[in-house]
Amino acid sequence: MCLSLSCSHHNPIACIVPPYMLRVLALRGDPATADMARSLLRHDEQMRDERAAFTSLPPGLQGVLPAADPDLCCPDRRIHDGEFRAALPGRLVRSEGDGPSGIPDADMAYDSAGQVFSLFAEEYGRNSLDGRGMPLVATVQHRRNYNNAFWDGQQMAYGTGDGKIFRTFLELSVIAHEMAHGVIQHSGGLIYENQSGALNEHVADVFGALAQQRVLGHEVHQADWLVGRGILGPGINGVALRSMKAPGTAYSDDLLGTDPQPWHMDQFNTTTDDNGGVHINSGIPNHAFYLFCAYLGGRSWEVPGRIWYKTLQDINNPMASFSDWADQTLRAASALEGAGSAPVLLLRRAWKLVGIAV
Ligand SMILES: [Zn+2]
Repeated sequence: MCLSLSCSHHNPIACIVPPYMLRVLALRGDPATADMARSLLRHDEQMRDERAAFTSLPPGLQGVLPAADPDLCCPDRRIHDGEFRAALPGRLVRSEGDGPSGIPDADMAYDSAGQVFSLFAEEYGRNSLDGRGMPLVATVQHRRNYNNAFWDGQQMAYGTGDGKIFRTFLELSVIAHEMAHGVIQHSGGLIYENQSGALNEHVADVFGALAQQRVLGHEVHQADWLVGRGILGPGINGVALRSMKAPGTAYSDDLLGTDPQPWHMDQFNTTTDDNGGVHINSGIPNHAFYLFCAYLGGRSWEVPGRIWYKTLQDINNPMASFSDWADQTLRAASALEGAGSAPVLLLRRAWKLVGIAV
């Protein structure tokens, strides 16, 4: 749904704000808001046919380097100022090792990219998004009043929001979510429609939440499990874009509509909208992940994060369904924690509670 890119290349666009939110804004917003929403939606329609499979490297090329790799210490961040225009990447304002740029969004993008790099490097032994040290390229102040953030296959881009519906997109769980789309793409991919697309969104939310919890030092029961906390505008009735702890409760607003996420397969939403509900049905695996972490306690980026990361590396199925994914998480848990271990039993219970038989 992003306005920003030329459609000449076939990279997938993964936006943080889904089309069903824009559709409500187009109906209920004031004229300027409705225009903005219609314009974003029109572009989404144009891009739908061009959107290619969300894969890049074949699994054999995916790069997980050994923890001894000296490059694991060092991200290569390149933050650009979009200067409120559409061109990407814009003007380079802060490279690796530079002091603060003085542009708050750019400095937040820089610091957060470092924290996300460190999650993947230190916890999972991965050197950057592609596993081979790729630069972390981001653009802030992308377009004017732009109500979205996205990964375009090569870089992250963040609007400032219009100050009314969204106040910012520079928030760690959003930044980590977008960067995780890059990790997914370079791990064999999950095609961005229907269940595999909802898994793509789910995995991005998981690492978004884990990056946030790790920086805050929050254990499972202290964490808020929200994606995009604080990014909604001052007049919007809601706390975040999504909730992994309680899908469907993140917002309920006259202008923005109501959070449509289910948490159980009985409420699975069969729709052609939103690439087959990729931002909607992700609530189901999101809740299973939350339940697993809650049963286990402790730090979610450790055992649960390692299991999800290994699942992503091993699944080798870009069209995976929810139950394919759940099966693979159990294989990963058995390999890492031992068959019949407590994590394996608790994980099985979590999937069952959201209606996925494993
Ligand atoms: Zn996403």
